[in-house]
Amino acid sequence: MLNILQLDGATPTDIRHEDGSIIISIEPSDDAVVKHCHNCGAKVYKHGKRVNHFADTPMQMQPVSLEVTRTRYRCAECKSMFMPEFTFLDDKRRATSRLIDAIKKRCLNSTFTHLSEETGLAINTIKNITSDYITELENTVNFETPTIMGIDELKLGGEYRCVITNLGMKSLYDMLPNRRQELLIPYFEKLPDADKVEWVCTDMWRPYKRSFRDYLPNATLVIDKFHVVRIASELMEKERKNMQSQFTKVARLNAKKNLRWLTLKRPDSLNDQELEMLEDMEKTMPKLKLAYDIKEDFYKIYDCKTKEKAEAAFKNWADNIPNDLPQFNDLVKTVSNNYDDIFAYWDAPFSITNAYTEGHNGLTKVANRLGRGYSFEVIRARMLYNKIARSVTSISTKATSTKPLIVTPNSPVTTVSSKDLNFSFSTKYKKMKTEYGAHIPTLVELFEEEYEID
Ligand SMILES: [Zn+2]
Repeated sequence: MLNILQLDGATPTDIRHEDGSIIISIEPSDDAVVKHCHNCGAKVYKHGKRVNHFADTPMQMQPVSLEVTRTRYRCAECKSMFMPEFTFLDDKRRATSRLIDAIKKRCLNSTFTHLSEETGLAINTIKNITSDYITELENTVNFETPTIMGIDELKLGGEYRCVITNLGMKSLYDMLPNRRQELLIPYFEKLPDADKVEWVCTDMWRPYKRSFRDYLPNATLVIDKFHVVRIASELMEKERKNMQSQFTKVARLNAKKNLRWLTLKRPDSLNDQELEMLEDMEKTMPKLKLAYDIKEDFYKIYDCKTKEKAEAAFKNWADNIPNDLPQFNDLVKTVSNNYDDIFAYWDAPFSITNAYTEGHNGLTKVANRLGRGYSFEVIRARMLYNKIARSVTSISTKATSTKPLIVTPNSPVTTVSSKDLNFSFSTKYKKMKTEYGAHIPTLVELFEEEYEID
């Protein structure tokens, strides 16, 4: 007979349907029967029967339960008890190993409810299998420490989570449950190859600086330009709100929509009509137009090609803040307090920012899409260990003594030395795989395409 069950050492004896499930009765095949004591080798005798149930992979789109009937044996000499062992059973759960493997394969792309209905296992069991699988991934998947590291935050489930990216590869390197110092300090203390980090791009949030300064010995901090220029926009907004508060209620509502978007946009993204409105503003709301111009002048500092020019542009900007818009002096103070870290932007070999297209906003969208009803650990694993996104930044190299040149889409050229690849001469011809994390634009694309997680 065709061995459709493919369970080694087991013989099916009955099949029945019960409450939408298939129950298959099995018994040990003859060769699985215990004859001698495992301890002393003496003869064993039968000592009753045991019936246990084990979940197996679904058949005919229904959950399958194996009803296993096994004879118990007792040793005549040492009195030890035995039951025939089945190698296909998982040693931790009442399920076959192949079912556990199938769940592991699907748990990061499918919902727990769906898997529970499909297999007949309790949702909690699915959750625990997922948790085991995540631990397995943690222990087996290793991403190279980024040379250019972005540290940002992302709001997920009402909490700010710390997001660590590889800015050269545009990949997600890690996600931490929060951004508190108690967590960040030990994290950076244990970071592998911490001396490889050359640049760190982050906001002005103090704990980051305190956390990594001591543990990333070769890293230069660059405060993300997006976080700096955003302050200029916020200060301009102060003037817009102040002005609108003097309008009548109706005018206020109308003005809010139009003025807000008009003034927050950069001039090169305005259409003809909006440019006209901006000109009108000069006559009707000169102070707001002035605030707009000051905001724009600040943004232009980042268009400077050299550090010297940027520093001069900033000085000129700071010296020309009008007396009736004193709020912009706050930005002068912020820049002065973080001067070296802000102007380090011009020391970097290429424009370093966390705010690249698809970057931050894309990740937020992906996280929220994945988020509902799942723990942070599961969402993190779904993003970080996504196979498709990981494959984009994974590089196979033959371990040779030359330095391979690595070029990936949209990334600067990175040279990886043989030391970085960590191989020894004995593995000279072994193919090696280096992983850099989940490619963020790919993650965004996957989850924008109405990627079904159900
Ligand atoms: Zn014995």
